[in-house]
Formats: sequence, structure tokens, C-alpha cells
Amino acid sequence: MRIILAHALPILTTRVRIALSGLALLGLAQSAASSSQLDVVAVDGTLCDLTSTLAASAAQVTCLIPPGGNPHGYQLKPSDRQTLAKASLILHNGFDLTPAANKISSSAPVVAVGEKVLPNYQGNDPHVWHDPTTSEGLVRVISSELSKILPDAEQAALTQRTNQAVSVFSGLSQWGSAQFSALPESRRVITTDHRTYSHMADRFGFREIAMLDAHTTGGVLRPSSLKAISDEIKSSGSLVIFKPSWKATKTLKRISKRSGVPISPNALEGEGVAPGQTAVSTAVSNICTMVNGQSGQCDQAGGDRLANSWKAIR
Ligand SMILES: [Zn+2]
Repeated sequence: MRIILAHALPILTTRVRIALSGLALLGLAQSAASSSQLDVVAVDGTLCDLTSTLAASAAQVTCLIPPGGNPHGYQLKPSDRQTLAKASLILHNGFDLTPAANKISSSAPVVAVGEKVLPNYQGNDPHVWHDPTTSEGLVRVISSELSKILPDAEQAALTQRTNQAVSVFSGLSQWGSAQFSALPESRRVITTDHRTYSHMADRFGFREIAMLDAHTTGGVLRPSSLKAISDEIKSSGSLVIFKPSWKATKTLKRISKRSGVPISPNALEGEGVAPGQTAVSTAVSNICTMVNGQSGQCDQAGGDRLANSWKAIR
């Protein structure tokens, strides 16, 4: 009950929450007093927001990697192991997004959600959620896993939230396609540092140039490569180089200077949910940053409507 109150009343002060918890302990609060607490852990990528949204107040969802965090080098902390030990369900992206997730052992189900959605994927880009249709699949898999552990009384509401979530991602897919197809074909290209958006590129029909993957060794630019990269970018139709949410590296700046292609002032969030955002508003922001950077005119209002529909899921 304490957990349900904390979820339902996120803006209350700690003092009020403690007071309400006290009421619950005294048996004065009515509903759900008998339901036992369900703990779910979502490790990485956008799973945290997808799972929290689908679970709503029916389970406590703990996210190991915070918004804006980097999943690739994440190491499990002792406190994470405690959280994992009491979880009824553990979800992670899979495809080695967070190699540490492969080492989780638990008596609870540990599900690599992305690998269930794309069982035949043979590529090496783990950032699968950037394709909204794949995110729709993530929603379905998470929902089906939650359904196995939630009590009967929660099933109808879970189904309703799932349908709403699927509908938002289906809308995001259509909206995203419209944004990219309005660009002239020669401008349907995204230049970034590392391969992150290949799933989105396949969905929306643009090219992704991941400069540093092709031309560096261990992140260090080979001197002979600077000219090759610069030439590739100049002839690619790229108007800007998109930087990740962390600062543009020296290497990006060198490439920008050599090629004459500026670094976009707006960053992309490639690793999960941006701080203070949701999975959907992060996707809208990424798509608008890409499209506007390539001289398009993103329909921000349409994107905002989708983000609001997502936030309204209860
Ligand atoms: Zn990444």
C-alpha cells in the first residue's frame, strides 16, 4: 500500500506521504490493502519508461540506469543486486546494450525484451527502440510479462494501458514517416558519431553515417582517415553533424572543421530517455532535431500531441 500511495501521489511532500503511509498502516486507507507488493526491475534503454507506464500503480518499477545515463559501460552496484534479489520480473533490452545485464542471475524471469521482439535480427546495433514499430513490439512483450505476475483484478486495466501505448507508438511511426518523407531525398541522411539510429533509419528510409565507427580505432581517429571522413560527409547531403547528449568530442570538432559541416546545436538522445522526458517525447525531440537539422520543417505540434497522449496513460 505504501508503494501504491507513493506512485499515485508523486508530488506530495515526504511529510504528507509519511502521514498517509501511517494511515495505510493503521488500516484507514481502503483499497488494495491486501495486495502484496510487486517489484519489477527495468535495466536499460527506454524500458524504464515503457514498463512504468504499463505497470502504473500495479507494481513498483525500479530503473537501474537513470534518464540520460549510458547503458554500455554500466556495472551493477551492490544496491542493484539487492533490488534484483526481491524482483518478481527483470527486464533488459538485450543485444548486449548493457553487457552487465547478461550476468544477472535470479529465480525471477530475466527477459531480454528486444531479442523477443526481433528474434531474427543479426546486426550489431542494440538501440532497437528508435524504430517506433519495434517499440510497439517492446510494449507488447513487456505487457505480456507483466500480465503473468499481476493479479486478476489488474488485468483489464493493463490491457487498456497496453492498447493505448500501442496506439501512441503506431501514431509515432506514421508521424515520423511523414517528417522524413517531406525531406528532399538528398537530405535524408544523418551523420552521427556512433551507430545508434540504424533501426530508425530502416523504418523511415534515411541513411545513417556513423563516422567514428568506420574510421577510428578505439575511438581515436586515424590521421589518414580525417580526409576520407570529411569527403564522405561533404558529398553525403549532410547539413550538420549530430552530436550525442554528451559534449561534442574533440574528434567531432576536428571533422567539422575539416569538412566545413557544422555540429548541430541540438543534441540527440541515443541511449534511452532524456532527463525529464518520456520515451515518446525523447523520440519526438530526436526526430525533430534530425529533420530540422537537415533543412526540413518538423511538425512539432503533432509530435507534442503524441507525447501528451503517452503521458495521459494511467
Ligand atoms: Zn549506445
